[in-house]
Amino acid sequence: KRQMHIYSTCGVYYIQDETMSITSMIDRAKLAKEYITDEYLKPYTVFKNNMQDTYVDEMEICSEFEDGIAKREFQVYYQPKVDIRTGQIVGTEALARWIHNGEVIQPFRFIPTMERNGFIIHLDLYILKRVCEAINEWIEKGYKLVPISVNISRNDISGVGHDPRMLAERIIRIIKEYDIDPKYIIIEVTETTEASEQKDLYDFIKNMSEAGIATSIDDFGTGCSTLSVLRDFPVNEIKIDRSFINHEAFSTQDQIIIKSIIQMARQLNLNVITEGVETEEQARFLLELGCNHAQGYLYDKPLEQSAFESRL
Ligand code: C2E
Ligand code: CA
Ligand code: CA
Repeated sequence: KRQMHIYSTCGVYYIQDETMSITSMIDRAKLAKEYITDEYLKPYTVFKNNMQDTYVDEMEICSEFEDGIAKREFQVYYQPKVDIRTGQIVGTEALARWIHNGEVIQPFRFIPTMERNGFIIHLDLYILKRVCEAINEWIEKGYKLVPISVNISRNDISGVGHDPRMLAERIIRIIKEYDIDPKYIIIEVTETTEASEQKDLYDFIKNMSEAGIATSIDDFGTGCSTLSVLRDFPVNEIKIDRSFINHEAFSTQDQIIIKSIIQMARQLNLNVITEGVETEEQARFLLELGCNHAQGYLYDKPLEQSAFESRL
């Protein structure tokens, strides 16, 4: 005998205008259903007018993404990673900005939409190509290069219709096409708690590792899979999430956790970097704990390509 749990979700539209077509009413109820965030705790939502506005907004944005890529409106900003002891640049992270109608649009305004509709893979691979171009330019100009981290969304790895091996192949192909030494690229991915996604993440990281491309676990310490990732995945770096050091009541508990993460990672021969470092005090503290690399406003904000070039 097998026990099964069945549950259902529901979108509600209260009829206000009785002349509205039944299809439109049902569409509104369906749209409301999209806004359910926790199907166990509250399996229904009621339609509100602003839901339709955000939906329309998203649709508009989506059609503009493609245009934006074609017109090269997406630019790469570079935020240095530094050695706390010397201030020297040891790497940099590529961060997307959308220059649209004369405005610099920050990622939080377009990345979540892109992740929801699957467009994000196009952006991520586009950013990788621009990074490869920049690397060749900098080599030609004679700069001493540092590895560049590129963010790859979880959605690219485990999203509907995506295959981690195919993604790895596409990344490897781009790096080859631009004739880039893989040692200059680090792929940043975030942890996952979902078992099926863990497998995809593992396959992806393994493929990267076999191609000589380093990987970094971004926002480390915010998921639950932390320890098994360190043990089982061939990653090269962990990036400790800024939430550990960047809140007002930085507690003894935080200190204990960060300290053990750093020690463990070092014993496993992984690079450790902490992001979101904003004060000297935080930097000193990280040094004491044995984390020598940091990224954050204390050193640099994300810089335009030309500004980063000067920094190099
Ligand atoms: P992330 O990968 O965790 O990137 C670090 C974010 O922290 C960046 O925000 C950076 O500007 C910000 N930051 C750096 N130093 C400090 C600091 O000292 N204090 C504080 N409070 N913040 C700091 P940004 O550039 O707005 O990017 C936000 C997120 O958007 C990124 O978080 C990443 O998840 C995503 N993102 C950005 N570019 C891309 C991309 O090309 N592809 C994908 N998939 N995601 C991207
Ligand atoms: Ca990142
Ligand atoms: Ca991060």
